[in-house]
Amino acid sequence: MEIDRQVGSGKCFVIAAPSGAGKTTLMNKLVEDMPGVFYNSISDTTRAMRSGEVDGEDYNFIEVPEFKAGISMGKYLEWAEVHGNFYGTPERSLVDAVENGEYPLMILDVQGYFQLKEKLSQDKICGIFILPPNKEELVRRINVRGNIAEKDLETRLKNSDKECAVSDEFEYRLKNNDLDVAYSELKSIVEKEIGL
Ligand code: 5GP
Repeated sequence: MEIDRQVGSGKCFVIAAPSGAGKTTLMNKLVEDMPGVFYNSISDTTRAMRSGEVDGEDYNFIEVPEFKAGISMGKYLEWAEVHGNFYGTPERSLVDAVENGEYPLMILDVQGYFQLKEKLSQDKICGIFILPPNKEELVRRINVRGNIAEKDLETRLKNSDKECAVSDEFEYRLKNNDLDVAYSELKSIVEKEIGL
């Protein structure tokens, strides 16, 4: 897809949602559907690599001491502890990308989004919060992934309530009852924001 990139005209798209709301599916669909549009910002994380993941592509997988050293050195534009692991966005690459007219697209937790909002000017960030359909469906979706301990499920549900409670501070909110409907809403938002 041809995009007219002008210096200074980039924008950072942040997708946030509780675990199981469908954010990864929606983001992957967008990247596939709009090839060449988005800049892939690769976060650092201290969580263990899952099978199928590639270091340096899905995340930069690093150890806790290295992550903490990065925090002290001011490496991260935003960082947060999510479900017991650290995640952070390296500052330099993201700021350069936006300056160069790129459109970083990333999944962050709500803390990360609020930190970014403080650091980037208002016209350089677009936060989209995906609301899950209802609790029963959320539990079903989280369980479908398998291998989830009862305590872990509880933590995720509690986090979900906390995250949804601040969702009205995002520029856009959309409910993922039906994937196709949610996707077409998401795509319209992005096209409008980019000016396509
Ligand atoms: P996962 O471990 O499943 O890849 O990611 C879990 C959650 O961590 C994501 O849903 C997202 O909320 C959060 N996350 C991933 N990368 C980042 C990041 O760079 N910064 C922040 N603040 N949160 C992240």
